[in-house]
Amino acid sequence: MYDFVVIKYSEIGTKGKNRNVFENKLMNNIVLQLNHEVNAKKIYGRIIIIPKDNKKINDEMLNRIKKVFGIKSISPAVKVEKDYEDIKNKIISLLKEKNIESGTFKVDTRRVDKMFPIRSFDLNKDIGAEILEKFPGMKVDVHNPDYLIRIEIRHEMAFVYFENLECHAGYPVGAGGKASILLSGGIDSPVAAWMMMKRGMKMNAISFYSPPNNSEKTVMKLVELSKVLSTYYPFKFYHYIIPFTEVQKAIKNINVESYSLILQRRSMMRIATIIAKKSGSQALITGENIGQVASQTLENMISISDATDMLILRPLLAFEKLDIVNKSKEIGTYDISIWPYNDSCVAFLPKKPATKSFPDKMKKYEERIENLEILEEEAIKNSIVYVIKNGEVEEKYIFHEREVVDK
Ligand code: ATP
Ligand code: MG
Repeated sequence: MYDFVVIKYSEIGTKGKNRNVFENKLMNNIVLQLNHEVNAKKIYGRIIIIPKDNKKINDEMLNRIKKVFGIKSISPAVKVEKDYEDIKNKIISLLKEKNIESGTFKVDTRRVDKMFPIRSFDLNKDIGAEILEKFPGMKVDVHNPDYLIRIEIRHEMAFVYFENLECHAGYPVGAGGKASILLSGGIDSPVAAWMMMKRGMKMNAISFYSPPNNSEKTVMKLVELSKVLSTYYPFKFYHYIIPFTEVQKAIKNINVESYSLILQRRSMMRIATIIAKKSGSQALITGENIGQVASQTLENMISISDATDMLILRPLLAFEKLDIVNKSKEIGTYDISIWPYNDSCVAFLPKKPATKSFPDKMKKYEERIENLEILEEEAIKNSIVYVIKNGEVEEKYIFHEREVVDK
């Protein structure tokens, strides 16, 4: 249990005026991601997170703070009296609490309040000696210690900390524009979403499914993925889940089986583009990765991209599958992604999808699909919109009942 948390963030690209904007966004996002249970303050030239109502910071709160993008590392801190005995006792009980008995350390004091009678050099030496006496397994290393034990004696208060917990770094969400992720139930697209969110992008998600086949479980799986993503996201996360069966049937009816996958993907792009533009997104994101499956040859990617005029971001393009899997385990989506419920019905998937296709040929096929545009509009109208915040569904509605998108 700690009194507050000292935030460290990467200062690359955050000089001058930008630095203020960056810090303010970061502070705002931390407060939002912690449901207003904390205050964020800029003191002593850094960001400090203090729980409201004299509460303490527990491990669960630390885990939530760690998920805020823009933070490089955090140091949970404990308040001390400006009194030698109290400083010593709190440091020793912290080390005991954390079961730290061996390793190297260095004590480092900053004495801003010169009324405190012991000079930094002496405090370092004396506290160091107390630690050596209480923990015979520990050694001093002033150059590269395992534990850097910081004591800060400020005018307003004094505190100690020694942990430095690594976080995800990146940029605060909202610092990098907005995009819409095409979120399937697979392993890749949730990772793609996470990576772009980490670059500071606001986001919403668009998914296609084929009711009534397996639909309840598929929707549940998609929503579970969004819930995980939303724990990294300070704002309301909107997820548009689009019934795609009628479009798939119409595509199937023109009997060009080997191209049906590409035609479906083109339709997904058109629908996603409409929602993305309405909601102020500047780009689409996919989990595409060169060469994994037939739909991901360069030729087919060209045919799919041709269906939208929006920029498509493909953050996983050059990743090894194993790296994507490891990332999804790290961020917490893997266990959901491997649930067996498919996003789109296998009945609409070609047995042998074409590995090469050309936009002009696809356009010709599309002319033959009956009512394609109307079916795509209907699909949007009938989509289910989930509004998710901090891992919980706040609201759910059918698109045409409100015609509301996130902005
Ligand atoms: P993933 O693991 O993300 O499902 P994948 O390796 O299965 O990807 P594809 O099936 O070719 O590859 O899908 C490529 C990308 O197209 C996905 O990462 C996703 O962005 C988008 N996509 C595919 N199917 C859907 C769907 N049903 N709903 C939304 N987006 C989809
Ligand atoms: Mg997939």
